[in-house]
Amino acid sequence: MDHSHDVVIVGGGGAGLRAAIAVAETDPRLSVGVISKVYPMRSHTVSAEGGAAAVIRPDDSLDDHAYDTVSGGDWLCDQDAVEAFVAEAPQELFRLEHWGCPWSREPDGRIAVRPFGGMKKMRTWFAADKTGFHLLHTLFQTTLKYEQVVRYDEWFVTRLIVGDGRVHGVVAIELRSGRIAAIGAKAVILCAGGCGRVYPFTTNANIKTGDAMALALRAGAPLKDMEFVQYHPTGLPFTGILITEAARAEGGRLINKDGYRYLQDYDLGVPEPWPVLRSMELGPRDRLSQAFVHEVEKGRTTDTPYGPVVHLDLRHLGRTTINARLPFVRELCREYERIDPVEDLIPVRPVVHYMMGGVHTDIDGATSLEGLYAAGEVACVSINGANRLGSNSLPELLVFGRRAGQAAAAYASGAGGPGPAVRAQADDERHRLEHDLLFKTDGHEHVSALRQEMQDLMEDSAGIYRTGDSLAKAAGTLRELRERFRDTALGDHSRTFNTQLTAALELSFMLDVAEAIVACALLREESRGAHQRTDFPARDDQRFLAHSLIYRDPGGSYRVEYLPVTITRWPPGERVYGR
Ligand SMILES: Cc1cc2nc3c(=O)[nH]c(=O)nc-3n(C[C@H](O)[C@H](O)[C@H](O)COP(=O)(O)OP(=O)(O)OC[C@H]3O[C@@H](n4cnc5c(N)ncnc54)[C@H](O)[C@@H]3O)c2cc1C
Repeated sequence: MDHSHDVVIVGGGGAGLRAAIAVAETDPRLSVGVISKVYPMRSHTVSAEGGAAAVIRPDDSLDDHAYDTVSGGDWLCDQDAVEAFVAEAPQELFRLEHWGCPWSREPDGRIAVRPFGGMKKMRTWFAADKTGFHLLHTLFQTTLKYEQVVRYDEWFVTRLIVGDGRVHGVVAIELRSGRIAAIGAKAVILCAGGCGRVYPFTTNANIKTGDAMALALRAGAPLKDMEFVQYHPTGLPFTGILITEAARAEGGRLINKDGYRYLQDYDLGVPEPWPVLRSMELGPRDRLSQAFVHEVEKGRTTDTPYGPVVHLDLRHLGRTTINARLPFVRELCREYERIDPVEDLIPVRPVVHYMMGGVHTDIDGATSLEGLYAAGEVACVSINGANRLGSNSLPELLVFGRRAGQAAAAYASGAGGPGPAVRAQADDERHRLEHDLLFKTDGHEHVSALRQEMQDLMEDSAGIYRTGDSLAKAAGTLRELRERFRDTALGDHSRTFNTQLTAALELSFMLDVAEAIVACALLREESRGAHQRTDFPARDDQRFLAHSLIYRDPGGSYRVEYLPVTITRWPPGERVYGR
C-alpha cells in the first residue's frame, strides 16, 4: 500500500470538506485523506451563487420547508430523509456562521433571506451572490484546524478497491508526477459531485464528469433515479454560465422575442397572483424550462449561433440594486457576453444544471457496499426526488456530508485493515491505465469527437422532453460509442499533468453515466418532475411512485430495479406551490 488512512474522501468540494470535519470531530484518532482532482477551492461548490435554504423566520416552519421540497420533487423524495434534512439545515448554517461564513444581513442585523423558486416562504440565506465561494472558503479554512486531515490536491481517482464484499481504498494518479498509487482506507466517502458535462450546454464546471457515479457502478453499488436531470432555465447561450435564480428573485423578468412575459401562458403549478413567490419567474425550474421549449415551437424565441434564446430583463431593478444584490451577475454578463444588465437584456436558454440522481445511499450516506459512503451531488439520498428546489443543494451537502462523515468514522473505528486483494487490484489498475491508455499508440478515434457526439446525443434524446423511440436509439448509439472508445489513442504519452489522459478517463466515466441515464429514462414510462416523456405525459403513481436502481454487471450490461418511495406524512398530491 502506497498510502493509507482510516477514511478516504474522494472530493474536496462542500460535501467532501464537511465530511472531513465530521470524521475529525467524531473520532480525533482517525486519519482522513481528502483526494481532489483540482485544488479544493476550485471545486464546483465555489460557483454557487444564489443561496442555501433553511428555516429561520418566525412565519416559516420545518413542515413548510419539507412540504415545498416534497411537492417540488413531485413526490419522489424519501420523506424521512426530507424531515431530517429540514430539521438539521438551520443548525448547519448557524454552525457555518460560527466558523466564519459572512451571511448577508438585514439592516437590523438579522440574517437576510431571499425568495427562491418553488419555496413558498423566504428561507434562502445568501452571501451576496457568492454564497458557494464563502461557504467553501469557510469549510476549507476549518479543515486546516485538523492535523489528521491530509490533502491529496490534484490527485485523480480512477478505481475503487473492493474485496470480500467491502471497500478497501482507491487507486489514484498524482497528476503532477503521473505516479499511480494505491491509497488504502477502511471507509471511503464519495463526494465527487455531479455529471452535467454529459450534456453539451451546462452550468457545470469542466470537472463535473460523474467520475464517482461510474466508480460506484463499476464496484457493484447501484445508482438511483438517474433519469432525473435538472435544466436551469437561465444559462448564457454559448458558455452555459449560470445566471442565478437570485436574479429572478430580485425581480428579473423573462420575455420572449416580442417582449412578452410568456410564462403567463403556462401552468407552472403556482396559483395567481403568486403571493409569496412574488412572480411567475420563480416557478419551478422544470416547468420554466419546459415553457421555453414551447416558446421555441411557437416561433417566439430569438435565434442565435448557439440556438434559440429568450431574454432576462433586469433593467427595471436599476444600477443600485444590481450592484448591491447581483454584482456577480453583472460581472459575468460584462466579461462573457460584453453586455451590461443595467442597460441590456440578457440572452438565456435552459442548460443542464444538476443531477437529482446519484449513488444510492441511506439517510446516513451508506451505500449498499460495506464501507462505501456518498454525500453531496454525487449521492441520491433522496431529498430532491424528481426535481430539486433551488438552494436545497448547499444545505444538503452540509447535512448529509456531516452524516456520512459521522457514519464512516463509526464504521472505520471498528473495521479491520485492508485485505490481500488490494495489492493485486492496484497492480491491475496500473497496468490498465498504462497499457490501455497512456502508452497505447494504435487507435483512430479522438476523445473530443466522441465526447461531442455523446453530448449532442444526450441533449437530443434525453433532454427536457424524451420519447421511448429516441431513448432506445440513444441506448444503441451509446453502446457503439463505448466500442469506439476502445479505439482511442492519446497523442501525449508523458506523465506530467497529462490532460489527455484525464479527459479520456472522464469520457469513459461519462459514457457509463450516460448509459445509466438513458436506461432508466427508457424504462420510466411516465412524466414526473424533470423526466418528461411525450409518449407518457401523465404521472403514474400506480407503477412509478418508486426509485429506479440501476446496477452494472461485470460484463457491462445494465439491470434496473425499483424501490418504493418512503412516504411519512405527505401522501402524493397535485403539484401546486404557494398554498
Ligand atoms: C453554477 C452553479 C450554481 C449553483 N448555485 C447553487 C445555489 O445557489 N444553491 C444551491 O443550493 N446549489 C447551487 N448549485 C448546486 C451546488 O452548488 C452543487 O450541487 C454542490 O456544490 C455540489 O457540491 P459537492 O461537494 O457535492 O461537489 P463539488 O463541489 O462539485 O466537488 C466535487 C469534488 O470532487 C472532486 N473529484 C471529482 N472527480 C474526482 C476524481 N476522479 N478524483 C479525485 N477527485 C475528484 C473534485 O475535484 C471536487 O473537489 C449550483 C451549481 C452550479 C453549477
